[in-house]
Amino acid sequence: MALERIIKPHIRCLEPYQPGKPAEELDRELGIEGSIKLASNENPLGPSPRAIAAIREAAGEVHRYPDGATSALRGRLADRLAVAPEQLVFGCGADELLELLAKVLLGPGDEAVFAWPSFAMYPIVVQGMGATAVTVPLTADLVHDLPGMSAAVTDRTRLVFLCNPNNPTGTSVGADEFDRFVASLPETVVVAVDEAYVDFARRRDFPDSVAWVRRRPGTIVLRTFSKIYGLAGLRIGYGLADLELAQYLQRARHPFNVNRLAEIAALAALDDEEHAERTRRSNAEGVEYLTRELRELGIEVWPTDANFLLARTGPGVHDRLLREGLIVRPLHGFGMPDHARITVGLPEENERLIKTLRRLREADPVSGLEVP
Ligand SMILES: *Cc1c(COP(=O)(O)O)cnc(C)c1O
Repeated sequence: MALERIIKPHIRCLEPYQPGKPAEELDRELGIEGSIKLASNENPLGPSPRAIAAIREAAGEVHRYPDGATSALRGRLADRLAVAPEQLVFGCGADELLELLAKVLLGPGDEAVFAWPSFAMYPIVVQGMGATAVTVPLTADLVHDLPGMSAAVTDRTRLVFLCNPNNPTGTSVGADEFDRFVASLPETVVVAVDEAYVDFARRRDFPDSVAWVRRRPGTIVLRTFSKIYGLAGLRIGYGLADLELAQYLQRARHPFNVNRLAEIAALAALDDEEHAERTRRSNAEGVEYLTRELRELGIEVWPTDANFLLARTGPGVHDRLLREGLIVRPLHGFGMPDHARITVGLPEENERLIKTLRRLREADPVSGLEVP
């Protein structure tokens, strides 16, 4: 094939991101109804009713381009975070910010440091620019090895990703270690703190990353409306950076990368603190229930600061659950074939998962659930 000779080698060897299968697709495959997806860390309560109303109201305006500056949302968020509006960069999901960072900072010969297992998009955006991903294994407790990451920084390092709380483990790092780590980085390295799950974090010493943005040029905090705000389908996230970095990212983005409905829904969602609080409460109860019940089944579960749990279900459980109409995220792609990442669902969804696991175990005590 002639194309093979002209496609960039670093693109040829990219492994595409594996999204979770939609529940409707599994329904079709199995010829059943009511499959549920506990695999993509979406908000099980759905979007805020206020966001839905705002989308309806704005639907008749979609023949207009969006406001390319995202001014209304920019102003509102800047107030809320007590930063200058120009420090915010919006994207088509926080994923686009990852890509913009790679585009602005990385090329062949450059290195980006991040932990592994961590968010699956990091290697994709780094390799997508022909740069080198330098991964640092999590500790035995599946927490970031921050001293190890610090030691992995060389004079070729341009970018460090720190996912806190970490996906797919749900573990987090506290303020003291975070502060020491960021302070240890040379000023020629950009640190991107990916806080997609910050709203679910319950540890009291959670790092104040925004304070670091004020203090250290080359620091960016990434947040998203996909998780607690329940707007994953609209694709909107943002980065909060020092002015200089923010301006470079602005130059690299497409002019209309955030769509009209996404901005409107995000504004309405920000105003609905009650929905966010309900989501947090429902998640905390779900975490508690699932942790207790999974442990009861003899399955190891890690403490989580997010809206999902890491569980050592044993290999093959993911496929067995699929046949029962339950989608969880297998982690063999992360070198953890024994583990699954389970998104906390609605109470009835969590109960269905536990009942199904129990039934599989009873039907086949030997291999029904290969408990380690
Ligand atoms: C979900 C997620 C994101 C971004 O999601 P978008 O939908 O692109 O905003 C970023 N980082 C992590 C770790 C995530 O889990």
